[in-house]
Amino acid sequence: MANPSLLILAGDGIGPEVMAEVKRIIGWMGAKRGIHFDVSEDLVGGAAYDVHGVPLADATMAKAQAADAVLLGAVGGPKYDKLDFSVKPERGLLRLRKEMDLFSNLRPAQCFDALADFSSLKRDVVAGLDIVIVRELTSGVYFGEPRGIFKEGNERVGINTQRYTESEIARVAKSAFELARKRSNKVCSMEKANVMESGILWRDVVQEVHDRDYPDVELSHMYADNGAMQLVRWPKQFDVIVTDNLFGDVLSDCAAMLTGSLGMLPSASLGAPMANGRPKALYEPVHGSAPDIAGTGKANPIACILSFAMALRYSFDLGDEATRVEKAVEKVLADGLRTADLMGPDGGTPVSTTQMGDAVLAA
Ligand code: ATP
Ligand code: MG
Repeated sequence: MANPSLLILAGDGIGPEVMAEVKRIIGWMGAKRGIHFDVSEDLVGGAAYDVHGVPLADATMAKAQAADAVLLGAVGGPKYDKLDFSVKPERGLLRLRKEMDLFSNLRPAQCFDALADFSSLKRDVVAGLDIVIVRELTSGVYFGEPRGIFKEGNERVGINTQRYTESEIARVAKSAFELARKRSNKVCSMEKANVMESGILWRDVVQEVHDRDYPDVELSHMYADNGAMQLVRWPKQFDVIVTDNLFGDVLSDCAAMLTGSLGMLPSASLGAPMANGRPKALYEPVHGSAPDIAGTGKANPIACILSFAMALRYSFDLGDEATRVEKAVEKVLADGLRTADLMGPDGGTPVSTTQMGDAVLAA
């Protein structure tokens, strides 16, 4: 059987720097664990613009559609700030998300014990935290019509429309239940069914999908405002949270910051199942291209490494290997290794991107 295929789009700024450490891990997996990927690399963002005049070439788009998973670094940088909107580096990423129809955005909030004191919350509230927010990414109030700023009498009115169809809710619910089965089998769905019709439909459809196809998963419902409160009060009560585009935007940022630095946070965006039964998928660190530190060797590669671990778990069914990578990260942090973003003002000497990669490999 052919090896699973992985398309690497390292992009701009620190993207290629953090991706280099992932490529070493991929090499190690082949050499030491006999797990091989059919890896190809291509350009995205400013790097693609420089060569092709567009932030994502059609041929690259086609490769992304055909790959079992896409792993992306970061796009953008000051060099491209003055470009026309249509060819800005970020448009490359948006095109990938849109054409791959990646409607389900997974943002884990995982707190490594060694970093628990980094959180703004008390250590015992966050230590060992491991939850995932599943955010609907391609519909809801960000896309619903009518939208715009209109004149009404002699004043202006700003209008956005929260709109969800049953099928849009059902597919993201399915993706949350599938995820839960790979974890602790527990989903909490969040909406505002007390004040929004779209919330009532959301709650109904999530419950229907559950009762029909996932009765084994423990499902609860919560109003999103209460959810926000519960997330900062006692986040460990949750495992998988599924919610709409707008609430997900807010709740996932909130949850992410329970755990520390931007340099630690991975993400996955999933679409419809492919012929092999696995979803179309794009994995990327939450952070951007960090132009302020690009080229200095200061970038923390862990967010990108953990994004690769998510790919192992969710696209390649290699959960044990994913855990192996995550444990290695946990160990180097417990050993006290810190890149600059993980240090307080009097923190000692930080390690470089490559040194962090070395340590994770060794672990
Ligand atoms: P984007 O618009 O692409 O999301 P951004 O402006 O929101 O980018 P980032 O590029 O993520 O922001 O950078 C925000 C800050 O966090 C910067 O100071 C950057 O140096 C720092 N940072 C981001 N990622 C990392 C990382 N992997 N390691 C260390 N520092 C990082
Ligand atoms: Mg940003």
